[in-house]
Amino acid sequence: VFITLEGGDGTGKTTQAELLESWLAEQGRAVVRTREPGGTEVGVEVREIVLHHRGDIAPRAEALLYAADRAHHVATLVRPALDRGDVVIQDRYIDSSVAYQGAGRVLDPDAIRSLSEWATDGLKPDLTVLLDLDAASARARLDGARTRFDRLEAEASEFHDRVRGAFLALAEAEPERFLVIYAAEPVDVIAETIRARVVALL
Ligand code: C5P
Ligand code: MG
Repeated sequence: VFITLEGGDGTGKTTQAELLESWLAEQGRAVVRTREPGGTEVGVEVREIVLHHRGDIAPRAEALLYAADRAHHVATLVRPALDRGDVVIQDRYIDSSVAYQGAGRVLDPDAIRSLSEWATDGLKPDLTVLLDLDAASARARLDGARTRFDRLEAEASEFHDRVRGAFLALAEAEPERFLVIYAAEPVDVIAETIRARVVALL
């Protein structure tokens, strides 16, 4: 069973991935919790480039780096785990690329999706949990570091709105795959909502 968590920064994906992992482990399920970018050794190096390279990366180059990370991650970690019958809980997957590299960096979302489908040889999640949150609440949950300048603030907020809109559109297009949750709900309420849906998959 392949479960992905999606949503903007500061929406609580990592927290919910951890809670779901412990709950499944208590049920005696074999679980692999992982993330993109950076779920493998190669991925950690790619993550370093895409997130910490000093200077701009051309949008198409950035999209290819995320796809390269994803290709290696799926081939060496995710597929082997699914083949063993493990539950894989993954922080971000293809929908993040469609939202960030597509809507965010303004590349053709269909091209971004095709690239990732090729990279992963078509591996699809059984369930995608979308943690949805407005820009203001999301920022309030993150460190103040990126909010120092008004201009950057406005740009960041527009970027966040495009990304959020893209995630919601993806969920609307595939309602059977997605569980959309308002991320301002209490952590334990969200965790319970996710568990109720996951039970039906096991
Ligand atoms: O959720 P995580 O901390 O791993 O995300 C790190 C950053 O990478 C996020 O701020 C997000 O903006 C960015 N990202 C991206 N495109 C992806 C995945 C993540 O721009 N496909
Ligand atoms: Mg996170």
